Amino acid sequence: MDRYSLKMRAGKKVHEQDQHISGAEKIVLKEQISSFSEALIERGLHHSKGDADFLNIKIEKIKEEDILYLEALPVTTVTTKSWKEGQEEVIKFLKDLNIQRIEEVMHYMEETYSMRGAMLLDITTMKRVEPDFSRGIRATYMDREREQSSVLMDTKNHYEEAIVLATKVIHCPGIIGEICISDDPDYVTGYVSSKQHGYRRITTMKEMGSDNGGRIFLFDSTKTCVEDAIKYLQKQCVIVRGIEKLQRQAPKNRWERLEKKINSLQQQHLFRTMKTITSAQGSHITVDGKELILMASNSYLDLTAHPYIKKRCHEILDLYGFGSGGSRLTTGNTVLHERLERKIADFKDCKEAIVFNTGYVANVAVISSMMDKEGVIFSDELNHASIIDGCRLSKAKCVIYRHNDMTDLEKKIRENPCENGLVVSDAVFSMDGDILNLPAFMDICQRYNLFSMVDEAHSTGVIGETGHGIVEYFGKAYMPDILMGTLSKSVGSEGGYVAGSKLLIEYLRNTARGFIFSTSLSPVTIAADLAGIELIEQEPERVKRLQDNVKFFCERLAAYDIHVTSSTAIIPIVTGDEKRALALSDYLYDHGFYISAIRYPTVRRGQARLRVALMATHTRDELEKAAQLIGTFE
Ligand SMILES: *Cc1c(COP(=O)(O)O)cnc(C)c1O
Repeated sequence: MDRYSLKMRAGKKVHEQDQHISGAEKIVLKEQISSFSEALIERGLHHSKGDADFLNIKIEKIKEEDILYLEALPVTTVTTKSWKEGQEEVIKFLKDLNIQRIEEVMHYMEETYSMRGAMLLDITTMKRVEPDFSRGIRATYMDREREQSSVLMDTKNHYEEAIVLATKVIHCPGIIGEICISDDPDYVTGYVSSKQHGYRRITTMKEMGSDNGGRIFLFDSTKTCVEDAIKYLQKQCVIVRGIEKLQRQAPKNRWERLEKKINSLQQQHLFRTMKTITSAQGSHITVDGKELILMASNSYLDLTAHPYIKKRCHEILDLYGFGSGGSRLTTGNTVLHERLERKIADFKDCKEAIVFNTGYVANVAVISSMMDKEGVIFSDELNHASIIDGCRLSKAKCVIYRHNDMTDLEKKIRENPCENGLVVSDAVFSMDGDILNLPAFMDICQRYNLFSMVDEAHSTGVIGETGHGIVEYFGKAYMPDILMGTLSKSVGSEGGYVAGSKLLIEYLRNTARGFIFSTSLSPVTIAADLAGIELIEQEPERVKRLQDNVKFFCERLAAYDIHVTSSTAIIPIVTGDEKRALALSDYLYDHGFYISAIRYPTVRRGQARLRVALMATHTRDELEKAAQLIGTFE
């Protein structure tokens, strides 16, 4: 029975150059061609390294007599606790194979990290023998055996693909062994293989988070000539039979995986600790008995301990006690809750509003209730984690566009036509402090008839002349369909909300699970929310003072040759390096300033930063001192 080779290769255009993102191949029967091609196209188009700009599918007929059938290598697993132990396993393997210059082989491994293919290393001369050192050598024309009736779309089983490859390679004339480490930063398992060892998985072969991966084919030139080996690797069609299912052994210690993760975070300077505050949140706080100037809080207007808010909370506490006793749809709906929703709707110039327990819940609940698996969500690459989680929960297709790049957004929309679509963005980006281009954003949403959703967590109380947020900032000319926000930042309290049309809010009250299935906020919290918004309305000079502080601080930083611009309360000072961000934050702490270092995964790797968050109540002296400390840090 004739078979067909299917090969997919997907790439991106980077500076006019074709760059590889992913590739895969199959050997299938005639009737399987179209379904497998489709699955390969899907796989190529959506890769974690990014969406493809172009994709090639090559289909070739293969004669039955040209196929070599091989039995899969037997699989064993060696559990190693650290990458050092993993390396020792590799050394043991090389000793078993009687390789003399083990150090040199280990050294060569590093050279393979940037290569797409494998290194063909002649172990008798310790020289590389593949024709192209920058690409390496790739084995192709191989697959596992599959039943004719197989409709199972097994197009992405990395374990089986690895065994197919290892089995083909080990049967290559002259090759006596292989060493392989994945380049996936989150995948630390690798393998070694040979005829005598079979396929030996080594559970930890590199540091978590490292994208250093590669492979070496160990070649003995006294047994065969290089050309024959390469011809076999690149041309011989191989089908592998009898792949064992991966036996996942029951672990001896179920906590081990957690310990490993913690250790790896510590090694990468990504381990989190908490500082314990023993005072109210304000521009001055006490941490472990030490007084500090706080420039890291989201309480931009410094309202959390405002006397008016405290007074209102005391009054409501006396009247209502604390808990609300049920969800809003059962017994947890007080007159205060309704008053707050009215207040938010008016503040945001919308018809109605709905309150959730936190901003996080609001995003997750709204997005998952607006979208389903037929929908498409277009989301800025720097959107807040709660938006990302909402997208995940909705099961809609999520298309990420470049940060605040409206040309890219429109391109992605054209590429992904849909009946039910939503475009979502932070109004002010939480780690960069820049503002969404709302006019262009709204224009695109309207032209393509997509829902527009904006998260105002960092814009309410901060931007717009009187702190009403992004709509005011852009002259009240554009109104998104869904205005989401939180009361936990400049309002100084707790709670999330959505403001919009009557239809939208009615729909959310009836379908948003985060609203329906959670006990509503305490009346006391609601009292604080109300009082906070009232203060912003009655005393807009607070907003003005915050805006002036930001301007002054950026000017003072510029005097030390640190050039950042911000029209919000967030001023990022990017150090890039994780360690340096932490050192700077520690240095400031020792000098009496609490300013957080922000690291992966909150921001991208290599984008670590100091995130200065100013308050309306910081004094000029405090701002000057902070700028000076940052500006003179070595
Ligand atoms: C803080 C934040 C949220 C979550 O709000 P909480 O009330 O703290 O849960 C949502 N979106 C953005 C952009 C945020 O910064």
